[in-house]
Amino acid sequence: MSENAVKPMSEKLKGMAAVIVMIAIMAAVFWNSDAISWHEFVWLGLFFGMSLIRAPFGMQNRQNKVTVSENHLWEKLLLLGMFLSMGLVPLIYLATKQTNADIFGFADYTLPDFASWIGAAMILPFFYLFWRSHSDLGRNWSAKLEIHSEQTLVTNGIYKFVRHPMYLALWLAVIAQALLIHNWIAGFMVIVIFLAMYLSRIQQEEAMMRAQFGSDYDVYTKQTGRILPKLF
Ligand code: SAH
Repeated sequence: MSENAVKPMSEKLKGMAAVIVMIAIMAAVFWNSDAISWHEFVWLGLFFGMSLIRAPFGMQNRQNKVTVSENHLWEKLLLLGMFLSMGLVPLIYLATKQTNADIFGFADYTLPDFASWIGAAMILPFFYLFWRSHSDLGRNWSAKLEIHSEQTLVTNGIYKFVRHPMYLALWLAVIAQALLIHNWIAGFMVIVIFLAMYLSRIQQEEAMMRAQFGSDYDVYTKQTGRILPKLF
């Protein structure tokens, strides 16, 4: 059995605590549903859909025996930033909106209705790309930057066209979030954090893949674009 399959007790406790906190916040969100607008409900759909797509891959990934890991401090901070700005903070915003505990309300902005509609429409290509990239990567997917003992280089499915379809999907999700949740902290902030994560990850991930797969990865990069397909 891999070391990763046996999680230390503290990890399990942290996981359970996180689940309990999330359930409590979600209950508060539904309790506060009168204060929540249609576009914020669309964001909730995006958040739940995304979590549902990812969950089975997260469980599968626990079986992996990690051989290379680039999970240093900056990367950990970025992942924490994504967890906060894409999950916890918007959920707290929705749970406390227009209540006495409304701590983010001062940072609201207004957008015309059509902007919210564009945000809502973006979640369809997001779901497709997010699901497709997870299912094409299968056991090769990981939330952290890492390689496991049975890692293969995926060059088929959506990976035939672009090297980072999941990051393309996340670009759609973070822009949609700013169009659906009209608040600089709960809605817009995730764009800034994802930009930092994207810029730092792309270099490291490609270097890690090149170190692992050598010339196969070089050939693959020549045939594909980063997040948009290569036209020539
Ligand atoms: N950057 C990709 C994958 C994100 S998940 C995308 O945006 O779609 C990150 C993990 O996926 C990395 O730790 C790496 O191990 C793995 N990975 C990335 N590209 C891969 C590929 N073409 N084949 C196999 N694994 C890959």
